Amino acid sequence: MTLVSMKEMLERAKKQRYAVGQFNVNGLSWVHAILDGAQEEDAPVIVAASDRLIDFLGGYRLVANMVRTLAEEKGITVPVALHLDHGKSVESCFRAIDAGFTSVMYDGSHDPIELNVRDTRKVVEYAGAHGVSVEAEVGTVGGMEDGLIGGISYADLGECVRIVRDTGIDALAAALGSVHGKYVGEPKLGFAEMEAVSKAVGVPLVLHGASGIPTHQLHRAIQLGHAKVNINTECVTVWSEQLRRTLDEDRETTEPRKILTPARDAIRHAVREKIREFGSSGRAGAAGNPERMPAGEREDAGVQPLA
Ligand code: 13P
Repeated sequence: MTLVSMKEMLERAKKQRYAVGQFNVNGLSWVHAILDGAQEEDAPVIVAASDRLIDFLGGYRLVANMVRTLAEEKGITVPVALHLDHGKSVESCFRAIDAGFTSVMYDGSHDPIELNVRDTRKVVEYAGAHGVSVEAEVGTVGGMEDGLIGGISYADLGECVRIVRDTGIDALAAALGSVHGKYVGEPKLGFAEMEAVSKAVGVPLVLHGASGIPTHQLHRAIQLGHAKVNINTECVTVWSEQLRRTLDEDRETTEPRKILTPARDAIRHAVREKIREFGSSGRAGAAGNPERMPAGEREDAGVQPLA
């Protein structure tokens, strides 16, 4: 089983109007659940580790070995990319690549665009030499993520064009109203801005903070060029709710397997539901793995056209 870059899977998804799910890892249970969920749905998948959690998870090498080894042990055949989410520095992206990550996000969105472009380009050069894909961010996705709170700042169209043109990234996270963590009220994505950015940049877009975005808005974002959709909060929510239920139902139990398995299954179900919602179910064979490529490639729309 080889982990793959996300470049081909995202290009194909964009062309066929569906999105590949990125699911964030918060421990071994997540790796099991994400791999099993994707395999059961016959879907390409992106397993992600946030740079902010890398020490908690045990380091880049441990994460890379954990994902690769578990995929092998399970006989996973769907394409799997291992992605560094919100890479904090150029060096941390290099370390993730050296450890075996097949995709990295360099998040220079907090810097002025000149610096963001300069540093993203360094990551693209190093990644390119290793066959690793790169995602960059412009603007700021708001909300709470891995203990950090931030406000929304919309991506500027000119900056989006510039970072794609001047760096050669494979995917762009353009912040357009989404927030990490829970939404208060109905999410308000900037669809007009999204359409303009998508037309201008050409590369697949990435939707961060997708937990809690209603299906019709998700589908619209996918129709407008989002080929990667990131989910963390929905998985950690079902996991913690199930853990609480299990412990409440049997207050005597101390058996880890009995406590942890239903919570892991809750993540797996959530992953499967999201994959179906994104239209990537059954797309493993057309997602960039030549061994599994069907003779005739489907060009049909993965999610329903806009009403
Ligand atoms: P949520 O936690 O809102 O699902 O966002 C996940 C994300 O965007 C990871 O980068």
